[in-house]
Parts: sequence; C-alpha cells; structure tokens
Amino acid sequence: MNWMTITWPMVAAACLTLGLIELSIGLWQRPRAPRLLFALSAFTVACIAGLELALMQTDVLAEWWLATRLLDAAVGILLVSLTAFIWRYFGTGQKWLALAIPCIYAIGLSFDFFPGTPPGVGMTYQAFIGFRTVETFGGATFNVAEGVPNPWNVFPYLAVLAQIVFVADASLRLRRLDGGRRAVRVGGAVVLFLLGGGLQAALVDLDILKTPYMISWAYLAVLIAMSIELNADVLAGARLARQLQDRERHMDLASAAADLGMWTWDIGHDTIWATRHARELFGFSESEHINRARFLGSLHPEDREAVDQALEDALATGGGYEVEYRVLLRGGKIRWMAAHGQIERDGSGKPIVLRGVVLDISARRSSELELQQLRSELAHANRVSMMGQFASALAHELSQPLGAILRNTEAAELFLEHDPPDIEEVRAILADIRQDERRASGVIDRLRALLKRRSFVRSALSVSDELATVMALARGDTAIRKVALVIDDAPNLPLVMGDPVHLQQVLLNLILNAMDAVEDAPAARRKVTVRARPNSEGAIEVAVEDSGPGIAPERLGRLFEPFFTTKAKGMGIGLSISRTIIEAHGGRIWAENNADEGATFRFTLPQAGVARSS
Ligand code: ADP
Repeated sequence: MNWMTITWPMVAAACLTLGLIELSIGLWQRPRAPRLLFALSAFTVACIAGLELALMQTDVLAEWWLATRLLDAAVGILLVSLTAFIWRYFGTGQKWLALAIPCIYAIGLSFDFFPGTPPGVGMTYQAFIGFRTVETFGGATFNVAEGVPNPWNVFPYLAVLAQIVFVADASLRLRRLDGGRRAVRVGGAVVLFLLGGGLQAALVDLDILKTPYMISWAYLAVLIAMSIELNADVLAGARLARQLQDRERHMDLASAAADLGMWTWDIGHDTIWATRHARELFGFSESEHINRARFLGSLHPEDREAVDQALEDALATGGGYEVEYRVLLRGGKIRWMAAHGQIERDGSGKPIVLRGVVLDISARRSSELELQQLRSELAHANRVSMMGQFASALAHELSQPLGAILRNTEAAELFLEHDPPDIEEVRAILADIRQDERRASGVIDRLRALLKRRSFVRSALSVSDELATVMALARGDTAIRKVALVIDDAPNLPLVMGDPVHLQQVLLNLILNAMDAVEDAPAARRKVTVRARPNSEGAIEVAVEDSGPGIAPERLGRLFEPFFTTKAKGMGIGLSISRTIIEAHGGRIWAENNADEGATFRFTLPQAGVARSS
C-alpha cells in the first residue's frame, strides 16, 4: 500500500458522497434533472478513479486493455452527463454544440471496439509496445503503458474542446441573463476540469508525462464548486425557513388580533391544518387531528348539511366558499362563525386545497338579533296603535253580521212556534246565521293576525288577495272618514314572496297615512287609489296615491327616518317600519309628489321564484 492506493480511493469516495447527496435531493425536489445528471457525472468519475488505479497497477495486457476500454467509455458518459447537467442547470447553451460533443467522442471511441484488432490497439495506440514501471516520490511505483500514438486519438480531445466552448458559452449567456455567481463558479470549475483533465491525459497519451491518468483528480474542481453551491443552497434554505417562521408568527399575531382563524383543507388527504386561534374558536385541542368529518361534527346539527353542501359546491365549481354557521362548544355554548375560502387547483385543474379564514361573529349576530327583536316590538306597538283607530270601524263591521244574526234568530223562533213548525224555513235561517257568523269571525281573525306578535313567515302570495284583505280591514275607517278608497290592480298579477301579515301592515300604514293626508280636503275630493302593476324590472310595484296636500320638498328625504312625524298624535314609526319590512322582502320603498296634487308612496316586491338581486 502506498499513497497512491490511498488517495485515488479517497477521490472516488468524495465523488460518491456528493453524488449520493445530489441524488437524494434530486429524487425528492424539483427541478430533478440537473441534480440527477450531476449525480451521474460524480458516480462516473468515482468509476474513473477506480479504473485509473487499476491501470497503474497492472502489467497484464488483457487487464490493462479491459480497464482502458472501460475508462474510455466512462469518459464518454462523463462528457455526456456533464453537458446535459450544464444544459439543464444553466437553462441555456448552444444545442447543436451539445449534440456535437457525444458524436465527436463516439468516433474516437469506436477505435477501441473495432472487431479484429489486437488487444491494446484502439483509440490511444495504433501499436502496443509494453509496460514500464515508474518510481515516484515516497518510493511508490506504478505502471505506464507504451505504444505508438494513434493519430485518430484527436477525436476525444476535439470533443473535450467542443465541451469547453459549450460550457464557456453557456456560462457567459447565463451571466448575461442573471449576472449570477453560479455561472462563474460552476461554469469556471467545469472548464478548469476539462482543460486540466484533458491536458494531463493528452500528455500521458503522448508519453510526454510519465504519470497515471488523473482525470478524477481534475474533477475535484467541479466537486468543490458544487459543494460550495450546495452549501449556499442549504444556507439560503435555512434563512428562508427562518423568514418563513417569522412571517408565520406575524401572521399568527395579526390574525389573532383581528380575531381571524386560518385553515387549509388538504382535499386529497382529507386533513385540515388550522392556526392555534382557529382551533380555539372550534374548541379543538392543539394536537387533535382534524378532517372534514371532525369539522362537520363540531357544528350545530342544524347547520351541518348546509355547510357540507357549501363545501361540495366549492369543490364542484372550484370557486369560493362562503358560509355562516354555528359551532357547538362544550357545555352547549354556541359560537357564530363566518367562513370564507378559496379552492386551489393543481396543473391539471383538479382541486387540491381549500384555503380560508374563519371569523367569530357571535357579537354581531347577537346585536343583529337584538335589533330584530327591537324592530319586531316597534312593529307590534305600531300595530297596536293602529288598532285604536280601527276599534270604531270594527264595531261598525261587526254590528252588521251580529245584528243580522239576532234578527234571524228571532225569525227562527217565530217559525218554530207555528203548528206544525216550518222546519224548511228554520233550516234556511240557520244557513244565513252560519254565513253571518263566518263574516264576523273573518273580521276577528284578520284582527287577531294583525295584533299577534310574530316573526317573519315567507310564502308565495297574491298582492290582489292582500289588497282585498286590507280593503276589508279599512272599509269601516273609510266609511267613517268619508274617503273613497279605490283598488286598481292589474289582472293575473304574478305572485310575490312575502309574509302576508307584514305586507298587510305596510299597506295599512300607507292607506291610513293617505287617509290622514286627505282628511282636510272637501268630502268630494277625498280619494285614495291603490294601484298594483308589474314594473319594467319584473317586480310588482304597488302605489298608494292620495289627493292630499303632498309633501314639502325639505321633508321628502326624512319621511322614512324613525320618529319623524308632523302629526300631533303621530309616532313617526309607521314609514320606518314599512321600509324595514319592504327591504327585508328584497324590495324598495319611496315617496314622491304627484304632478297635480297629493303624494304617492310606492314600493316594489320581487316576484316569487325570481332570485333576489341586491
Ligand atoms: P306618523 O303617521 O305616525 O306620523 P309615519 O312614519 O307613518 O308616522 O309618517 C311620517 C310622516 O310622513 C308623517 O308624519 C307625515 O308628515 C308624512 N306623511 C306620511 N304619509 C304622507 C302622505 N300620504 N302625504 C303627506 N305626508 C305624509
């Protein structure tokens, strides 16, 4: 054993080590090609180092010839892998030059494999002479072969030259593109290797230099350059990881300050990642594994289906996911959440991730609820106040059927006193009584509905039917106040979506206001007309038109404000409630002065079955 048998394996080991590192990175991380190609070149050089060692130790022609041919082939693989590596790593270079390199080398290599030529006669020698033992420092010896140089041996060197030009050109191009250190370092190292390794081999081939081949040693320049690159990559990666951690902490802080939780659903693996704050909002522990089923399970049972459907819709359309739901916490506590998310797709358009945020909206929800309650109480108060005005009208309405019932009962008693009693007449009278009773209870039912405090119940309804009901309720009032109330509704109006009692309240408000407005006019001109028509936007427009004094222009903008009134006994909430009700129905309400006299209050209601547009 001498220093040569130690150092050559060390070079091979270095090549193998870096080759393995690059191979493992290349297998896991994109872009793969440059790393895998470099690993191939490093493994090839490790083989070359072994072959160089074999060549310097043998003086048996057959062994030497086998190792020489393997070495020549390995150099070919090295040239190809290095060229391809530079091409992919730099992303630039002359393609024709890259293709020329293996072609030129292959011509030279073919001499090694000509059939029928004696051992030792190939690319390097046209005639083999023998071996010579050379002593070097430290008393170490090695063998060199001697032969008559083959003039065609110029091809491998031409290939090396072509590669030097290719690498230098690619490096210059890359430098021009991004001015990077990569071009100088890696390109320079490869050129150095090619120059050094090529020159040394040429001098050995020409018998000028009495040393073993040292191609593997020259490759150390490339190894060092690539190690520095790798080191820089690792450092940059560590810096990036630190920055990322910093950003994540900032994001965590910012999102927690804004009460936002962030989450990402990996659709393929069905796992949900969530920030600490998001986990807290849902009552998940920090280590708990969350998937779609676990998430849905944390919701209020009534909301699960809707949220599941929203997820399905987002997956199907690839669009946004926006939903509000209740989370059921331990102890039965409920938390209202608003979630907003967006699907992300892979290159083929397949949804891979749904990423989003959640916000605790419990406070907003409870104030909304309070407001709703307040409104409903106000609406109720308004209805009760209207009832005062109706009391007398109702007495009038009811007295008619009740009087008729009384008269009919008296008549029936008379018929029963006949001998024999006139049963047929009594039966007819009883039918009349039943009808009168129905009329009376109809009036009472409508009143009860109006007085009852109840929440919004939507259904498809006919504006004409509601107008008829309101007309019946207002009939008494119109008679007492001597106002002509005219209903002018277009036939076959499309249905609207709404709550009948709330809509009746709006109509009554407007009609009573209109009747108030015409009160001071001479009896002949006290007229209120209610019209209902489809408008150009496809909605139903109802107009309550009066012949009163109209509205002063400076008041027009304030009519719908709560507690705005010009009446001595007014509450000023009728119009404000009417607006709340109409807007809750997806409609609009406004007032305008008529061209001749009086004012018109109009509101619109969307047709049933037509989507609301805001
Ligand atoms: P209130 O009737 O209790 O005053 P409303 O909110 O119903 O409360 O009406 C607010 C105000 O709008 C009324 O006081 C009145 O000045 C005005 N107003 C309402 N309807 C008419 C109308 N048809 N013509 C003129 N002014 C009206």
